[in-house]
Amino acid sequence: MSGGHIPTSLQRRVRLRASDRCEYCRLAQAGQEATFHIDHVVPRVAGGATALENLALACVLGKFVAFAVRHRWTDCCCFELRDVAFALDCS
Ligand SMILES: [Zn+2]
Repeated sequence: MSGGHIPTSLQRRVRLRASDRCEYCRLAQAGQEATFHIDHVVPRVAGGATALENLALACVLGKFVAFAVRHRWTDCCCFELRDVAFALDCS
């Protein structure tokens, strides 16, 4: 659920702030086939604003990471998603 249009200028600012890395797991966009998308940290349906501080550049996995963190599945960088363990580089 992407939930609405994010102005191009705002998208550019998010990418700039993120240095083209996923803001959840710090994976670099370079070398990734899938283009990272801009994610609402607090979803729009939950009242989240389309503002710089509520947006995050996210890889495909980033959405799941955000979900896991939001639901306090983990307080570190390793978690399990449907029996698959993800260990994220949190250095
Ligand atoms: Zn990520």
